[in-house]
Amino acid sequence: LSEKLDKALHVLKGHGSITEVNVAETLKEVRRALLDADVNFKIAKEFTNRVKEKALGQNVLTTLQPGQLMVKIVKDELTELMGGDVEGINMSGTPTIILMSGLQGSGKTTFSGKLANFLKTKKTKKPLLVACDVYRPAAVDQLHVVGDQIKVDVYSDKGNTDPVAIAQAGIAHAKQNGHNVVIIDTAGRLAVDEAMMKEISNIHKAIQPQETLFVVDSMTGQDAVNTAKAFNDVLNFDGVILTKLDGDTRGGAAISIKSVVNKPIKFIGTGEKMEAIDVFYPSRMADRILGMGDVVSLVERAQEQFDEVEARKLQKKIAKNQFGFDDFLKQIQQIKKMGNMKDLIGMIPGAGKMMKDIDIDDDAFKGIEAIIHSMTVKERTNPSIIDASRKKRIGKGSGTSVQEVNQLLKQFNQMSKMMKMMQGGKGKAMMNAMKN
Ligand code: GDP
Ligand code: MG
Repeated sequence: LSEKLDKALHVLKGHGSITEVNVAETLKEVRRALLDADVNFKIAKEFTNRVKEKALGQNVLTTLQPGQLMVKIVKDELTELMGGDVEGINMSGTPTIILMSGLQGSGKTTFSGKLANFLKTKKTKKPLLVACDVYRPAAVDQLHVVGDQIKVDVYSDKGNTDPVAIAQAGIAHAKQNGHNVVIIDTAGRLAVDEAMMKEISNIHKAIQPQETLFVVDSMTGQDAVNTAKAFNDVLNFDGVILTKLDGDTRGGAAISIKSVVNKPIKFIGTGEKMEAIDVFYPSRMADRILGMGDVVSLVERAQEQFDEVEARKLQKKIAKNQFGFDDFLKQIQQIKKMGNMKDLIGMIPGAGKMMKDIDIDDDAFKGIEAIIHSMTVKERTNPSIIDASRKKRIGKGSGTSVQEVNQLLKQFNQMSKMMKMMQGGKGKAMMNAMKN
């Protein structure tokens, strides 16, 4: 998917503005990409239409390439489509009753445990798990194993075949034993059928939960939409839990489900372990679906921090061969303003993994800054006068060595040359140097 997008956005590179023609080209690829991620056809089409309107209505910022602006529009729109904000769980009620629903194998039992563990640790709650899967004895055992693992009490009644009665007894048990959250794990079938819907609906009516969650396996793709719709028709649930997002599934189901039932996705499951639970962040999911790391926030941050006036001044200086160490210092400060170096590098797609083990700390600039501060004004504006004796003095003054001063001078010369070279095109030396 990301390859396709790259290709699509590549089309836009080099164009000074977004025109109807290259937008159409790009959107065709974006739509194809969404379809590949299992997004419903109609939804993908509506989506690209909205992006098109936005793209044509916006002026291209001078510091950004149109392709990047397009990425931003696509991403913002995608985030909006998936709900925009992070949604929590309604914790009202004493106790708070949370009902799990979903097909067999979707991950209800696992998620019940994860949620109990999450609430216990993060929100210092005292949850109780209730086993209402009466069809498979193993299902009850499974919940007990989970409960033991996370040290959360489990209520079950193995002889009882009435899930409504078990749920009610579980809630009574919670009240008696000081549990302030009750999580009801239910049975599911492999496909939607009337008996299952009736059963879950009966439980729902009897216990009136504060929160009804629909658990869905993100790998089921298009089917997930139909299942979600069937459950929502009966339960009018409050939120969706997207499980098994640890695989290479892109999670296009998130978009489709949200569009069809218009309910927020609240949590995601990212593994079999109890800790593999995460709050759903629409913006992160958009990144995942678009498969482009955090490139958008990098663009945004650069946009915020990069001072255009400074940039223009700098350009003139470079052109006139007046680029000096004071300007160099400003550049460093500019880069530092953009945030932690590691974070910045991590946001470049592909680089994150590669650079993970390499140690880059923000102190990397400290020596450089010290050296520049030890230079006289004359030396800064005209570095070519820095001879051996000046180097010695600067080294001493900055607490570094002549070698380090030499190295910086060398780097400075290279950088000046590079900047001059980049002058030819659109300028914006800094931004260009940062891309690629
Ligand atoms: P239930 O039938 O809805 O209760 O589903 P289970 O909780 O028993 O989960 C079915 C299978 O999916 C089990 O093997 C779980 O370990 C696995 N599972 C659940 N959630 C996740 C997840 O987020 N990631 C992965 N990789 N596996 C999961
Ligand atoms: Mg289960």
